[in-house]
Amino acid sequence: SGTTKIHQQDVQALIPLQAAKPRPELRFLQLLWQNWRILVPALVAALVASCCAVVQPVLLGRIIAVLARAETLPQTVARSSLLRKAGGLVIVYCIELTCTITFVSLVTRSIDRSLRQLRETLFRKTLRNDLGFFDNIGRFEIEKTISKDISIVRDSIWGNLSRDRGLRAMLEIFLGLALCLSITGVVGAPIFGGLVPVVATLVAQMGLRNGRLASAVFAKDSTIQSYLNERLRGVRLVKAFGAEKREQRDLGNLLDNAEVDSNKFGVSKAMTEGANRVGIYFTIMTYFVLGGLMICAGKITYETFACLTGFIWILNFAMQGVSYTITDAAKAGASLKSIYALLDQANAFGRAQKLINSSGSPQTKLKGEIQFHDVSFHYPSRPEASVLQGVNFSIRPGQMIALVGDSGGGKSTIAAMVTRFYAPTSGSVTVDGIDLQSLPNKVYSRYCSLVDQDPILFQGSIKENIAYGLPDEDVSDEEVIRAATEANAHEFIVKLKDGYDTIWSPESNISGGQRQRIAIARSLVKSPRILVLDEATSALDQESERIVQNALERVMKNRTVLIIAHRLSTVRTADKILFVKDGQIVEEGTYDQLCAKKGGYFQTLVHSATELVGNATSSI
Ligand code: ADP
Repeated sequence: SGTTKIHQQDVQALIPLQAAKPRPELRFLQLLWQNWRILVPALVAALVASCCAVVQPVLLGRIIAVLARAETLPQTVARSSLLRKAGGLVIVYCIELTCTITFVSLVTRSIDRSLRQLRETLFRKTLRNDLGFFDNIGRFEIEKTISKDISIVRDSIWGNLSRDRGLRAMLEIFLGLALCLSITGVVGAPIFGGLVPVVATLVAQMGLRNGRLASAVFAKDSTIQSYLNERLRGVRLVKAFGAEKREQRDLGNLLDNAEVDSNKFGVSKAMTEGANRVGIYFTIMTYFVLGGLMICAGKITYETFACLTGFIWILNFAMQGVSYTITDAAKAGASLKSIYALLDQANAFGRAQKLINSSGSPQTKLKGEIQFHDVSFHYPSRPEASVLQGVNFSIRPGQMIALVGDSGGGKSTIAAMVTRFYAPTSGSVTVDGIDLQSLPNKVYSRYCSLVDQDPILFQGSIKENIAYGLPDEDVSDEEVIRAATEANAHEFIVKLKDGYDTIWSPESNISGGQRQRIAIARSLVKSPRILVLDEATSALDQESERIVQNALERVMKNRTVLIIAHRLSTVRTADKILFVKDGQIVEEGTYDQLCAKKGGYFQTLVHSATELVGNATSSI
């Protein structure tokens, strides 16, 4: 086709071309700001609540001042003065309560909305890419970013919604300082203007250091989780090789490694905790001494001193809270960096694919003729290893082509080009003459189905699993049953306790062969024109293998089939056999033609297979 082609290897080159992006934190704030209709009232509520909070100590101080004079005042005067001041305090409390509830609930809602949007965008943009993207980034990394990193950002924000944390703490420090300075004038400057910035700088430094260390601990934790995840999934392998001790040792090493960071974090946290305490005591003592000296010198009254005492407490707690906030912000910052890095990579990869997709035509009706035109390929994750070189072949509609050859030769890779898991590095794969990369996935996926050796079923009922074959449509029960019948699965499904509603989970008591037949039914729901099969049924017992084989033979009729053949009986019935070796097709022809080629690759393979097993249905 005449479209401009940009393949995956160019994606790396594309990335530097993008305009420099703002910092992840800023991008996140921009996202949050999209909900400004919720955020603005929330911020106003926070401001009012903070005003109330800093006014309280002043009102309390006034009560203390009345108490100090109570003995010298007439009883009724003292009582009414006390009650009036207490009444004022109650009103302030009520306003603060209302505003706090408003602030917390609105911020929570807006954060949830923004993070949900971010999660959905990440998932959508990630899924849009072909498998090269997943090889490049790593599935665990993607999963970690979409699930954990987003949770970390959310928890950091949630944890900072209380009075003495985050925004409220900062507002209280600023408002409180302004109030104190307005009450004491220049006289209070050495106490509030001098002491607070020193303590605040120290607190911020410690908070930042803690945040960095916490992120390092989290990164190591992720490595351990990915290790455990892999080993537990592959527990059969571990057992089969008696590798329990070795795995124990490997985990020990990872844990040792993580412990170093964790210890550093522990020490740093302990120091912050200690410093915070001592900081509080020290500020209070300084305040009392300086304030006392000022009272002695007649610069402030006892009432002013009393009013500001409560505020010193608020200030201390708020500064302590700011230190935790900075720690949380640094942690959230590291997660935001991963989140936006993934988003940018998904976008860059997607953009490259979009250029290829640009000539798609959704109305296309396909007959299923497949052609490989000089296809070369390397996996994006291993650009140095060329896997296919100049592969040319064609399959006419309804034909069955068998791929044979030694393992590692590139058979699965050729199949992955037809299922469009990967795009060719150069050359093209066409269906009915249309470049596969220019067909929207929605269109092509209706025509092409894959049945592989170890099919995956998702947790859910058997019916849901079969209907997954047509994910965007309501699949009727009749269609599910038709597909299951075609796949030789109907009979066993109806015998299960809940029939088609039986829930499949890895623990459920459904055999490998049955699982395979459910997967075949799933790929038949959409009545595909093109079938890509990996024939290996070696994991099955003979009886299941025979039933699955029967199902496969039935579904192959009247369809274009590309099969990675493992049996001589299959290659015999194939319309054409392609012998794949080192990424090239080295022999091509019918069974008889290839068998007649003395000393050819195929003939050698067939001879060794028949000699080994001695019958025509044996495995090759
Ligand atoms: P076959 O199906 O004939 O056994 P494959 O197509 O699976 O061969 O593999 C061909 C080559 O591609 C092998 O060298 C293999 O290591 C490599 N390969 C397969 N899958 C990937 C992948 N996802 N990433 C990188 N290299 C891969």
